Amino acid sequence: MTIEYNLVKIKSALPVSVQLVAVSKTKSNEDIMEAYRAGQRIFGENKVQELVRKWESLPKDIEWHFIGHLQSNKVRMIAPFVAMIHSVDSFKVLKTINDEAKLVYRVIPCLLQFHIAEEESKFGFSHEEAIQLLSSIKLTELENVTIAGVMGMATFTQDTTLINKEFSTLKEIFQTLKEVFFSGNANFREISMGMSDDYLIAIENGSTMIRVGSTIFGERCHI
Ligand SMILES: *Cc1c(COP(=O)(O)O)cnc(C)c1O
Repeated sequence: MTIEYNLVKIKSALPVSVQLVAVSKTKSNEDIMEAYRAGQRIFGENKVQELVRKWESLPKDIEWHFIGHLQSNKVRMIAPFVAMIHSVDSFKVLKTINDEAKLVYRVIPCLLQFHIAEEESKFGFSHEEAIQLLSSIKLTELENVTIAGVMGMATFTQDTTLINKEFSTLKEIFQTLKEVFFSGNANFREISMGMSDDYLIAIENGSTMIRVGSTIFGERCHI
């Protein structure tokens, strides 16, 4: 199947309230351009150097979303152009994004990443940690970031009951944070959840952004 065919198929089943982030990590500029010509403008990458390389060489109306683990010392490389950072998992990185955005006169939308899966290796806050963080900082002092919502990854499993439970947990976290810290704040509105194998379950649970790679571009080579 072609990339265009895969994209059209996914998009035809998406509610209008759900945005598609085409995850293009490890994929070539040619593959990205095929998706671009099919109308896709939002792409997601998880490695800083790879993202910078692609941003430099591809059309400037692409909205680049960063979805991988972000080290503070690399924020400067993407601050001038990144459209959204999905993977904020510490105050340190949030503060660094704010400071680097300020230097380039930008406000960068960020999502707080939550650990919702059973697997040990996934990054992210717990609900308690996020409440602690948001209670202890003055968000208004971070003028160059907006907290635009939450992000999470479900356990990699065939167990749809478990996936459902994890996504509904993220939705509950979103709602609690919205009530307690962001009521009346229209910026806080995104729930980034759902990948190739579980995006339909994510949408049932209120996802507003799905991050889909292999179903669009084909399997990645594992090096
Ligand atoms: C790779 C990746 C995706 C996309 O995964 P697929 O299973 O290929 O759709 C989504 N989110 C994150 C954070 C990723 O690293």
